[in-house]
Amino acid sequence: MLMKLELDLRLTPEEAASETCRRRHLAQALEITPERITESRIMRRTIDARRWPATINLRLQVSYDEPGSTKSTKPSVYPEVTGRPEVHIIGAGPAGLFAGLRLIELGRRPIILERGKEVKARKQDIAAIYREQRINPDSNYGFGEGGAGTYSDGKLFTRSRKRGDVRKILEVLHQHGAPAEILIDAHPHVGSNRLPAVITALRKTILAAGGEIHFETRVEDFRLHGNRITHLQTPNDLIPVAEVILATGHSAREIFRMMAAHKLRLEAKAFAMGVRIEHPQTLIDRLQYHGHERGPFLPAAAYSLATQVQGRGVYSFCMCPGGFIVPAATSDREIVVNGMSSRARDSKYANAGMVVELQLCDLPQPLHPLAGLDFQEQLERLCQKQGGGRQTAPGQRLTDFIEGRRSSSLPETSYHPGLADSRLEQWLPEMISFRLRQGLIAFNRRMPGFITDEAVLVGVESRTSSPVRIPRDPVRLQHPEIENLYPCGEGAGYAGGIISAAIDGERCAQGICPPADLFPG
Ligand SMILES: Cc1cc2nc3c(=O)[nH]c(=O)nc-3n(C[C@H](O)[C@H](O)[C@H](O)COP(=O)(O)OP(=O)(O)OC[C@H]3O[C@@H](n4cnc5c(N)ncnc54)[C@H](O)[C@@H]3O)c2cc1C
Repeated sequence: MLMKLELDLRLTPEEAASETCRRRHLAQALEITPERITESRIMRRTIDARRWPATINLRLQVSYDEPGSTKSTKPSVYPEVTGRPEVHIIGAGPAGLFAGLRLIELGRRPIILERGKEVKARKQDIAAIYREQRINPDSNYGFGEGGAGTYSDGKLFTRSRKRGDVRKILEVLHQHGAPAEILIDAHPHVGSNRLPAVITALRKTILAAGGEIHFETRVEDFRLHGNRITHLQTPNDLIPVAEVILATGHSAREIFRMMAAHKLRLEAKAFAMGVRIEHPQTLIDRLQYHGHERGPFLPAAAYSLATQVQGRGVYSFCMCPGGFIVPAATSDREIVVNGMSSRARDSKYANAGMVVELQLCDLPQPLHPLAGLDFQEQLERLCQKQGGGRQTAPGQRLTDFIEGRRSSSLPETSYHPGLADSRLEQWLPEMISFRLRQGLIAFNRRMPGFITDEAVLVGVESRTSSPVRIPRDPVRLQHPEIENLYPCGEGAGYAGGIISAAIDGERCAQGICPPADLFPG
């Protein structure tokens, strides 16, 4: 008799890591011998550390008394598109790359224009940030093949499940070399060391199907005729275009300013700014694992904290257990910090953004579409001055920030360009520093020991999401004034991470090639 079913198991971390133990427990639950199990596959894995000892909850698909049939779904197929109608995509981040892949599936030929370099060459420019504290404005943590997603942390968790097929994006990433665990973990993570190979594989798929990717090709201007873009201007070329997906990310300030100069409709949107906080990982492990060592079978502990202070959200953002704080500026005249970790999450440090929500009414000139962008840029420049220039970032011990005093010394940090002591509360805008302080005090009530002399705050975490939205039709996804322009991804205000940007890329591709029955005639 055919037997294939799903079962939930609650195991110790050590048992969950062992195939033999899992089979034994499955056999017990099914009241059969382990030998009768022909195949078992983990469908979902979550950690429950609310009590000690922590447990691992597994959902398994299991077959017994029949040949295994729990294999994963079919890989996506990318047909040859040479000679098919072209679509230009500006930006090779997750949004641009997934738009390209989806266009190929739909029989269009993507031509991607990317200001930065391909991943390997980009790595040299990132190394130069550490060596010389110099930012190449076209090739850095934000710009280059794979976009901000390449040297990101590679956490693939998203709340935007309603917007598209998260599972498909994860499967495409797995098909291109991301580890199989991303398909089962509740909080999937690839890690900065594994992402570049995945991005390279995505590029190869696009090229093999007949698409094109042009690196070191920065789009500087649109040529407009009536309600259409006719050409894209790059430093060396004027490129004729039929349809354009704009996927340049939230750091492409020149694009927003160019569009404003053409008087194209843009909107300021709410965003968040603050600092990055870093603790020793062992301390976060102790706090989250009830005072215990984590041992070899539990991951570096994470946290997710949120509260309200005076009507604004204060929350942790992009937490990187076992990670590093990185210099993520896209120009030499600013400091921007962010976080990443390798797949193993094995550094001594735990860092996270600690940010305060900003609404439009908090900004000077709240009605101006670029109000948030200008505010963000000014704070990043001020931050650089406070750090003493270049990429040395201003830092303050957490206890000193809470007490409002200078740090007489700073703890060791993962931020390689180094820290300069600074009284953050004196130069961060009051609406941010006051709420941040109150928020941190509230978090310490929830996680006693969170406020410690061993933790340091580093300025500034400013690029949490785009401060600008490029409006678009909710169904056709075109800009309201330019019918062949499809604003896409995080920069346009429709995504907040790798997966949601990839989903939005797919949506824009579908917007260009809608099913015939959606818009008949
Ligand atoms: C250090 C770091 C860690 C992160 N960690 C995570 C994480 O763990 N999980 C997560 O979900 N998100 C993370 N993010 C955020 C994530 O990377 C972004 O949300 C995502 O990459 C946005 O995708 P996008 O395609 O919309 O834009 P981007 O990735 O920003 O890509 C835009 C692309 O457009 C190019 N471009 C810009 N201007 C032009 C122009 N004028 N002409 C041609 N090309 C242009 C850029 O070079 C870039 O390649 C992290 C970001 C950073 C910097």
